[in-house]
Amino acid sequence: MSEMKCNFIAGEWLASSNAIENRNPSDLYDVIGLFAQADKTQLETALDAARQAQRIWAATGLEARQTVLTNIGNELMERSTELGTLLSREEGKPLAEGTGEIHRAGQFFTYYAAEVLRQIGDTADSVRAGIEIDIRREPVGTVAIISPWNFPTATAVWKIAPALAFGNAVVWKPANLVPASAVALAEIIARQDLPNGLFNLVMGAGSTIGQHLIENPAIDAISFTGSVEVGKQIAVSAIGNLTKIQLEMGSKNALVVMEDGDLDIAVAAALGGAFGGTGQKCTASSRLIVHSAVHNEFVEKLSMGAAAMVVGHALKHGTQIGPVVSQNQLDENMAYMDLARAEGGEVLCGGERVSRDTEGYYMTPAVVAGTSNDWRVNREEMFAPIACVIRVDSYEEALHLVNDTHFGLTSGIITRDLARATHFRRNAKTGCVMVNLPTAGTDYHVPFGGRGSSSYGPREQGGYAVEFFTAVKTAYINAGTPS
Ligand code: NDP
Repeated sequence: MSEMKCNFIAGEWLASSNAIENRNPSDLYDVIGLFAQADKTQLETALDAARQAQRIWAATGLEARQTVLTNIGNELMERSTELGTLLSREEGKPLAEGTGEIHRAGQFFTYYAAEVLRQIGDTADSVRAGIEIDIRREPVGTVAIISPWNFPTATAVWKIAPALAFGNAVVWKPANLVPASAVALAEIIARQDLPNGLFNLVMGAGSTIGQHLIENPAIDAISFTGSVEVGKQIAVSAIGNLTKIQLEMGSKNALVVMEDGDLDIAVAAALGGAFGGTGQKCTASSRLIVHSAVHNEFVEKLSMGAAAMVVGHALKHGTQIGPVVSQNQLDENMAYMDLARAEGGEVLCGGERVSRDTEGYYMTPAVVAGTSNDWRVNREEMFAPIACVIRVDSYEEALHLVNDTHFGLTSGIITRDLARATHFRRNAKTGCVMVNLPTAGTDYHVPFGGRGSSSYGPREQGGYAVEFFTAVKTAYINAGTPS
């Protein structure tokens, strides 16, 4: 039995009476490690320590804070191959995607290191004579961060980095499917010159330790990424304590392919958008809305491209699509394939469980044609390498379908028509819009988020993150007259 990997609480690595084993989804005989599950007492210890440490951190000089964030970012980027390999081994995304995710996580830290020095407020004259007003931002306090398994490091980091940059303490609960990536990141943060308890890692199941965390009145703010169902539970718990929340949840992103678009760009965008990360992305292009004039040619090229994609072990050279993350996810994906057939879809390729040299959760990417936007496969988030094609006869019909969903994270259009692209950019009801690009793939220095059931609360990423991680204070100063 391997040595237990511990939680990081109040500046110490703490074991626990309870632990879980983590296995590689590309090779179920590969045990990655044994990970401690925090209990309620340990969580309370983390919260107490966080509260005290936050006061020290908020009073720490800006350059000292900046140095900490820079160091973490640089180490992540320098070790991106090593840590990316661990991430891919644990989550199942191909090595290039795992390495890229760690590098991106490093960039988030160096970006927010610079933001430390950009905390500049406003001033105003009062309507009352002789009184001046100073408006500045202060840390929000102790932040609970709850992250999903699909981007185990990047999602956590785009919350942790701004939290620390703006002077807050963090209690982080990662998804229990990806504890190894969490411990690796925590080890880097733990080595920095931070007050004990400023950053805490509490591993455990969402239904137990996660639930205790979100219900705790000692938390000032909760930043969550995951399913709509859990997001709603968090909102209900948070409102009881009037805790500030930021929720990033599901989606059902549409990519529109117009008759005037470049079909090669369209096919590349659809393949990357629908099947990158094994389709397990909140920005995945799961609805492909295609104009009838190019429908058959597009669908043929797309199916050929999907059928040619190499499904295999995440760490094997040449793999383009890794396994899905778990047995549960694979079962759900197969059930969605059955549903697509039952609703009347034509499966043009893929959607089958396949075996490889090692035992893992492998399936082939699926293209399903002849679907309707009203079907469940086009309304529910599948989080699977399954793309459903919807045929339309006009731009107006396409735009109507893009917006006919309760989600609203990303959308895209492939067109050479500037007027259409501009109209789409302004009328698609999504937080992010892509023109001649896949629906997936965003930058780190600009806001990210959606509308409807996709997001709730202030935006994440870029300078916009300041809104969630700080509280505004307005001070009135009557300096009097000089003697
Ligand atoms: P969940 O929403 O269940 O999990 C996300 C995070 O929330 C995990 O850390 C989880 O912990 C935690 N959590 C679960 N229940 C609670 C709770 N009651 N209180 C506090 N925290 C909790 O998503 P899943 O990972 O189960 O994925 C299910 C579906 O969610 C996917 O199929 C997909 O549709 C969607 N999803 C969307 C993502 C996105 O980026 N928008 C990312 C991931 C999932 P733990 O996992 O340890 O139980």
